[in-house]
Amino acid sequence: MTPGMDEARAALSRVFGFSAFRPDQETIIQSVLAGEDVLAVMPTGAGKSLCYQLPAIVSPGLTVVVSPLIALMRDQVAKLRAAGIAAGALNSGNDGGETLAVERAIEDRRLKLVYVAPERFALPGLVDLFKRGGASLLVIDEAHCISQWGHDFRPEYLALREIADDLGGLQTIAVTATANEPTRAEIVERLFARSPRVLVSSFDRPNLRLAMARKVDAFRQIAAFLERRRGESGIIYCASRHRTEKFADALSARGHRAIAYHAGLDPEARAAHQDEFLHATGVVMCATIAFGMGIDKPDVRFVCHADTPGGIEAWYQEIGRAGRDGLPADTLTLWSEEDIARRRRRVLDGAASRARKTSELARLDALLSICAGAGCRRRSLLAALGEASQPCGNCDNCDAASSLLGGIGAGRSLSAALRGTGKLVATRIGEILTGEASETLRRRAREWPRMLTTRVVGPDTEERRRVRRAVEGEPVSAAVMDDPISLRALTIDERRLLAALKARRLELARKTRRPPHAIMPDRALLDMVARRPGDVSQLTDIPTIGVDRVASYGELFLDVVRRHGNGAP
Ligand code: ADP
Ligand code: MG
Ligand code: ZN
Repeated sequence: MTPGMDEARAALSRVFGFSAFRPDQETIIQSVLAGEDVLAVMPTGAGKSLCYQLPAIVSPGLTVVVSPLIALMRDQVAKLRAAGIAAGALNSGNDGGETLAVERAIEDRRLKLVYVAPERFALPGLVDLFKRGGASLLVIDEAHCISQWGHDFRPEYLALREIADDLGGLQTIAVTATANEPTRAEIVERLFARSPRVLVSSFDRPNLRLAMARKVDAFRQIAAFLERRRGESGIIYCASRHRTEKFADALSARGHRAIAYHAGLDPEARAAHQDEFLHATGVVMCATIAFGMGIDKPDVRFVCHADTPGGIEAWYQEIGRAGRDGLPADTLTLWSEEDIARRRRRVLDGAASRARKTSELARLDALLSICAGAGCRRRSLLAALGEASQPCGNCDNCDAASSLLGGIGAGRSLSAALRGTGKLVATRIGEILTGEASETLRRRAREWPRMLTTRVVGPDTEERRRVRRAVEGEPVSAAVMDDPISLRALTIDERRLLAALKARRLELARKTRRPPHAIMPDRALLDMVARRPGDVSQLTDIPTIGVDRVASYGELFLDVVRRHGNGAP
């Protein structure tokens, strides 16, 4: 039994009023109490704060918590104080008296936890103050801010390693919700003098329902979504400051309690809006991504994206702000290829290094493939975060699949069920054939052979052709409503080019022993048919392809397009 663990458990209920640890909290706290350096990677809302607050409370000495956001510090300090724990914060939001009082409490060794903004370390004397205050533990919250590959890089974080050394090689705990391996490696390398114990939790948030839709008329789509959620608290992320205000106004006009939040508001308005959201229920916060990091509001019931998020990790973090209390919460992500193309252009035109641009584009590509894909959203998301899982049953694509199968089971004709879901059927059948299908799906699909044989085998009818096309992974024409090029039938010329591109894809798939879709998704082939790229830069402009594929296979597909243009078969 780790010393301090009993006290920690007692403090869990005495101070925080919780009856049990969440998964993994106990392991992390044990390691911290055993004196180890720890990097804890846990999803947003999993309860990272407790992992350092409890050790801070039950151990002697002062715990210094570096945190990037003033709002977050204020929130946490207020909660700790309300629970009778001596805590304070040092940041530019303090008035002089407050700073003085906190410094005095540290000198007198009366403080258990002090939150500090990283830029404060640039001021002289802070390290000495912490030493005199008996600092025994250094905590870096939102530790991914040290990573240049992370999406929230803060240059001030780079100085933290030296500060840990200046503090006498203090035991160091870093926590973050950013899971990807390069970021993790960078945190370990840049923050720790010796390698820490790395504890990574599952990133699944099963209570979050995931849904995505192609953006057609964002306001109308969001308003419809909100109609059934009046009185609930939620966040609507918008791509620009202007849009947050437009959304807040338009939703207010519809009787919602909607307010805007962005970095262009003056500090008082920002603080007031944040407080209103945190302390009231039923406020719809229309915000840029300036809002949310570290916000601890347990009962956020929905998060919408009115515009395509900035990348897969950003999306995950942002939707992760819903349902922190573990109760069901909804997400709706609107996306469009135009948004993605705009973001790509911004990345490419930006001043970042080549490597950084590549990683940002990869983040966008990973997101796009989830948006445009027909597979389980959660499974794709977790796969992108490095975690294997089964289809979830709590996302729009899983729902569509099971209602489709349910519909078939209930005797609807296969073609009726197929209408509107061709790509999905192809994916589901693909999953069954490759053995990746969930148990439910397989059970429901037991009916299929009979239907497929009665319906597919026999004289060529339109229905049979459609089923066969679905099975072979061709978009079913009536089905792909969101797919402009296949809305109309392809011309003979387009069909020939598509066939030639598919042949090249198959050839590459065989050579590399990879599935054809991994070489080049259907969507990308269709875009090539529509746009006829003539060179690598035009190929790069097609968002569905992605830089990596352009680099690996671009010339080989360009070759097909060029030869087709020259009238070759
Ligand atoms: P993170 O920093 O990982 O995003 P927080 O530390 O802000 O998450 O905690 C998220 C929410 O979960 C908070 O409201 C917190 O009070 C709550 N919480 C944390 N641990 C527990 C627990 N063991 N039991 C119940 N609620 C908890
Ligand atoms: Mg946190
Ligand atoms: Zn799913």
